[in-house]
Amino acid sequence: LHEVADIVTTVEDQMRPMIEEKGLAFNVTVDAGDVYADANRVRQVLINLVGNASKFTKEGSIDLTASVSEDSVVFSVRDTGIGIPQDQVSRVFEAFHQVDSTSTRQFGGTGLGLAISRDIAEAHGGTLTATSVPGEGSTFVMRLPRGSQQAAGQDAEDTPRNLVA
Ligand code: ATP
Ligand code: MG
Repeated sequence: LHEVADIVTTVEDQMRPMIEEKGLAFNVTVDAGDVYADANRVRQVLINLVGNASKFTKEGSIDLTASVSEDSVVFSVRDTGIGIPQDQVSRVFEAFHQVDSTSTRQFGGTGLGLAISRDIAEAHGGTLTATSVPGEGSTFVMRLPRGSQQAAGQDAEDTPRNLVA
């Protein structure tokens, strides 16, 4: 059982320098509450989502919020970046799928982050979804049930930190 704020704060501390280095604002809002989850896996997802938000945003802001309700915790990562064409939004969760896959592509990565992230969310009995407006930005939302004691990654506090991408 983990405090949601503990999970989010380590992600914030890790990502803030890189984001501010780019001149972007980073707004983090977290509700009080706890969740049964593999905290390091949840961190891995948030780091990928915030990393993507930073990678695909030239100016503006990244908002990371965690909202806790009775049954679930909803993590949201919103950016003011390049966005994703409507016909590609569902495809970005496919392994190796990248919107611009040309040899002159200016962004790094292998295209695995979101496929792994969705697997982690689903292993917790949750979901990972995206909405986007090209030229305006993207929002990625991970919803996890709070009481998933029987879910795959339950409370594995001993997951080595070095597995966090
Ligand atoms: P990796 O995460 O393996 O380093 P990656 O970031 O390219 O590489 P994913 O995280 O799976 O891979 O993302 C897949 C693709 O989805 C990206 O290459 C990009 O085209 C698109 N994408 C993901 N997040 C965003 C975002 N916030 N804004 C715009 N496009 C995005
Ligand atoms: Mg990525």
